[in-house]
Amino acid sequence: MRMSNLFVQTLREFPSDAEVISHKLLVRAGYIRKLANGVYNYLPLMWRVLKKVENIVREEMDASGAQELLMPFVQPAELWQESGRWDVYGKELMRLKDRHNREMCLGPTHEEVITSIAREGIKSYKQLPVNLYQIQSKFRDEIRPRFGLLRGREFIMKDAYSFDTDEQGLKKSYKIMAETYTRIFERCGLETKMVQSDSGAIGGSVSHEFMVLVNEDSENNAGENDVFYCTKCGYSANSNHAISNLNPAETDGKFSKAEIIDTPNTHSIEELSKFLNVPQSVICKCLIYVIDGKYVAALIRGDRTIEETKLMNAFNGNEIRIARNDEIEEIMNVSGYSAIAGFIGPKGLKNVEIIGDKTITELKNFVIGINQTDKHLTGANWGVDVDLPKKIEDIRLVEENDKCVDCNAPLKVTKGIEVGNIFQLGTKYSKAMNATFTDKDGQEKPFIMGCYGIGISRTAAAAVERHHDEFGIKWPLAIAPYTVIVVPVSDQDEQQMSVAEEIYKKLSEAKVEVLIDDRAERAGVKLKDADLIGIPYRITVGKTIKDNLVEFKTRATGEMETITPDEAIQRIINIVK
Ligand code: ATP
Ligand code: MG
Repeated sequence: MRMSNLFVQTLREFPSDAEVISHKLLVRAGYIRKLANGVYNYLPLMWRVLKKVENIVREEMDASGAQELLMPFVQPAELWQESGRWDVYGKELMRLKDRHNREMCLGPTHEEVITSIAREGIKSYKQLPVNLYQIQSKFRDEIRPRFGLLRGREFIMKDAYSFDTDEQGLKKSYKIMAETYTRIFERCGLETKMVQSDSGAIGGSVSHEFMVLVNEDSENNAGENDVFYCTKCGYSANSNHAISNLNPAETDGKFSKAEIIDTPNTHSIEELSKFLNVPQSVICKCLIYVIDGKYVAALIRGDRTIEETKLMNAFNGNEIRIARNDEIEEIMNVSGYSAIAGFIGPKGLKNVEIIGDKTITELKNFVIGINQTDKHLTGANWGVDVDLPKKIEDIRLVEENDKCVDCNAPLKVTKGIEVGNIFQLGTKYSKAMNATFTDKDGQEKPFIMGCYGIGISRTAAAAVERHHDEFGIKWPLAIAPYTVIVVPVSDQDEQQMSVAEEIYKKLSEAKVEVLIDDRAERAGVKLKDADLIGIPYRITVGKTIKDNLVEFKTRATGEMETITPDEAIQRIINIVK
C-alpha cells in the first residue's frame, strides 16, 4: 500500500476528549473516529488490526474444536422474557420496537439466542459436547462509555457457548477454553493473568477473567479493575470477588459499659474515631444502600470498606447505589426517628433489610449509631444492646497486605484491563428456557452450559496500552496493520526513490504487508508518522544509499542498523516466515 493512497489522517495533537493513551493514540494516528458517544468508525488501519485479532481468535477457537456461526444482532424480547432477563438486565440493554410494535433488543450478549438454537438442534447426548462461537458487534448502552475502544457502547466481541451432558464435561470444556484464551492473548503479544471473578448479570458460579495488567499513574488509569494476587501461592482475584484473612481488630478497653454519649458533628468514621480517640476498628459502621429499589442497611467494622458487588450479590440484586439523604430521611420517618447520615444504626429500622459483614461478629464493647443525630452508643455488645444481624456474609473489600486465604502471605494489588471472561453457567439458561436433551439413561436433562467472551476491540486497545512510547504505538507484530514501512527520505532524489520502490516491489512480491511512504512530505513528517502509526519495522532509504546502505529500524526496541537493501529485504522475509 502506498501512503499517498492510504486512507489515513494523522493529527498533530491528541484529541481533547481522550483520557487514556490508547484512545489518544488511536485517534491521533488515524485508526478510529468517533461517530457518537461510545460508537466509533474503525478506519482502514484499525480494521486491519481488528481482523488480525479476529483471525488469531478464530484459528485458536477452531483448533480447540469450537465451530463458528453467526447469530442475529437484533433479538426478539420473547427470548429474554423466557430467560427472565428482560426485566432485570437494566438500561444497558438497548430496547426497541419494530413497525408491528413488537419489542426487540440489540444483542449485548447471546445466551438466549444460542440456548434457543441448542433447544431446537440438539436432541441427544450423542450430539454433545459442542462449542459454538461467533465474532460480532455487540451493543451495550453503557452508563459511562469512555476510554475509546476500551469501553464503547458498540464493540466487537467473540462469544462462545459450550453445551455438555454433565458437570464433568463442563469442567473439561472450561479448561480447554482457559488454555485457548491463554494462547490467544499470547499470540496477540499480551501477557494476561487469569483471575477469579464475580459472575454478574450473566449468572453461574465459577468464572475467571483474563486481565492485562497495567500500571496506574496520574496520566493513565485505563485499568478499571483492581486485581488482588498472592506472590507466594498464585491466588488472584478481581476485587469484586477477592477474599482474605483479616488481622484481628485493635481492641480498646475504653468503653466497658453501654452508654449513649454526645458525638457532635461526627459524620464520618474518621471524625468519630478522632473525637472519641479510639481506633476505627472499634466502631461498627452502618451504611444504607438501595438494591433494586429496596433499602438495605449494611454493617461492617469501621476501618474496612464495603464491596458493593458482593453486597449486591448477597441479595441477588442487579443494581446498587448508596441511599440519598432524602431516602434516609424517609427511612427515619417510617421508623420513628430523625437522625441524619453518620448517626444511623440497625436498631429499630423499619422496611430495611439488615446485613452484617463477617468482621462485625467479633466486635466487643463497640461504638454504633442509634438513629439520634450527634449521638452514638458506646460500649455496645451484640445480643445485649443491639441484635447481631441474622444475615452475615463476606461483603468486605480486600485491601493490600491482607493475608491470602490459601497461604496467609500478604496480598498485593494491581490494575487490570479485562480482555476476556469465561463462565461456568450450568443450567441457568437451559432450565429457564426448557432446553433439554435425552441422556444415555433415556432421561430428559437440561444442557450444562458455559460461556466465553473476548473483547476483540478492547484487546486491540489494550495492546496499545501495553505497547507504546512518547512517539506513538508499538504494535506487536502479529496484530500490526502492516509489517514494514519503506521511507525514502527525499522524494526529489531519484536514486532514493528507485531503491525504495524496488524494496517495496520485492517485499510485495514476497507477500509481505508493506507500506511505502511515497508522499511529497518532509522527511521529519514521514518518520514521525511511521513511529506514530507504529509499524514494527522501518526501512529508511537516505543519503547512505550511495554506499548501498539503508537504515533498518525496529520500532519495539528503537534499535537502528545500517545494512544493504537486500539484507533488509531478507531480514523482513525471515521475520514473517
Ligand atoms: P466490563 O466488566 O468491563 O463491563 P463485562 O464483564 O460486562 O465487562 P462480558 O460480558 O464478560 O463483559 O463480555 C466479554 C468481554 O467483552 C469482556 O471481557 C471485554 O473484553 C469485552 N467488553 C465488555 N464490555 C465492553 C465494552 N463496553 N467495550 C469494549 N469491550 C467490552
Ligand atoms: Mg466480564
